[in-house]
Amino acid sequence: MPPRRRKHQKDAGNKNSNSSESDSVQDPRLRPSKSTSSPLLRITVLAVLFGVFYYVGLGLRNITRTIPDDALNPLNAQGSSSPASTTEYDELELEARDASIFRVQELPGKGMGVVAVRDIQRGELIIRERPLFVLPSQVTTSPTDLISQQLSLLSTEDQHRFFNLSYVDIHLAVHPHLDEDDPENILEKALAIFQTNSVTAGDGKAGIFPRMARLNHACSSAFNVVYSWREREGVLVVYALKDVKKGKELLTTYTDTKRSRDQRRAYLNHQYSFHCTCDVCSLPDLESIRSDQRLMSMSEMHSRFATWGSSLIDGEEAIGLVRRIWEVGGEEGYWSERGRLAADAAWVAAAHQE
Ligand SMILES: [Zn+2]
Repeated sequence: MPPRRRKHQKDAGNKNSNSSESDSVQDPRLRPSKSTSSPLLRITVLAVLFGVFYYVGLGLRNITRTIPDDALNPLNAQGSSSPASTTEYDELELEARDASIFRVQELPGKGMGVVAVRDIQRGELIIRERPLFVLPSQVTTSPTDLISQQLSLLSTEDQHRFFNLSYVDIHLAVHPHLDEDDPENILEKALAIFQTNSVTAGDGKAGIFPRMARLNHACSSAFNVVYSWREREGVLVVYALKDVKKGKELLTTYTDTKRSRDQRRAYLNHQYSFHCTCDVCSLPDLESIRSDQRLMSMSEMHSRFATWGSSLIDGEEAIGLVRRIWEVGGEEGYWSERGRLAADAAWVAAAHQE
């Protein structure tokens, strides 16, 4: 059993789960429902162009907190359909590729983190990874039994990779003297690892991705990589959202950070037991307040925009909101959701063509 290594780790529930590639067409609010004439085609083209590049941004916040003990769903009793394990692929080749882009290392005051070993360009593919295993997000049988089954199917090497992941364990926090290496506690630990690190991997499923799981969190403009699940290929991909200089940490985001610093920190503390000191959370108070205002305003506009499909706002207002979110996001340096935004704008525009 590898030594326990507590780190600020992966996250929990993104209710907005913009995960799969096809999200933008599945979203009910995107169904064309109006047909007024309007010169929105220009923005459609612009939106689609931006959408292609920023599509990776749609994966923002796919991480899901799965299989909570109190959320067992009787409708979904079966175990899991586990895609191919990474051991089917050349692990050495993947490790060599990783090593040419990043390394995992101890960072002062932060625990382990992922650092670029060379300059990385925006849009570059950082990680492409199959899950070690996948489970339904809601189950009726014991989650630890399901995890145990899945672990038994893994190679020893992959089991090590799983148990080497860090985790937040409320149980251990309550009982600090619990020996986590006691065989009876191994499954509790496995569950904690799964809950801390699982990421949405398709509809109603969550998977474990050991490479991606090494990425630490940052808020708003401070994260520089994004990930998304590719249903057709059965892989999770991580892309650079921004240029990253050699030696800089690669950071993703565990949650929707369009909220105030206090709210973000409270959430991260509660879910992951860490106090966020990312570049945005570390802004001087006045700048932090301005950043909070931009983020909350973006959040409100997103909510308003989401009412378009239910006829509460017309196409003109919807596109106006998209423009405004785009502008405010530009000021904040928060671009990761532009792909989704652009795709949404394209739907609105299409609905108002005729
Ligand atoms: Zn932060």
